[in-house]
Amino acid sequence: MRLDCPLCGPRDLREFTPRGAAVHARRPEGETWSEAWHHHLHLRDNPAGRSEELWYHGSGCTAWLIVERDTATHEVFSVRLAAEGGA
Ligand SMILES: [Zn+2]
Repeated sequence: MRLDCPLCGPRDLREFTPRGAAVHARRPEGETWSEAWHHHLHLRDNPAGRSEELWYHGSGCTAWLIVERDTATHEVFSVRLAAEGGA
């Protein structure tokens, strides 16, 4: 399987590290402990089907990416830079 990094082009999957659902890339508001921070740090969904995930291109450009893929079939729909938003 290959991922098409927006900066490096198509690269082997082993160059990337998955970091969970992209929704967790957004930090909750506020600096004090809250239920939102508990969910952000400790709770993860495990969806079957189309979802957005945060991936790190550690053996390439070191960019954080948002990968939209189907977790059941592994089909990749899109790869974009997390810095461009949309997470
Ligand atoms: Zn890259």
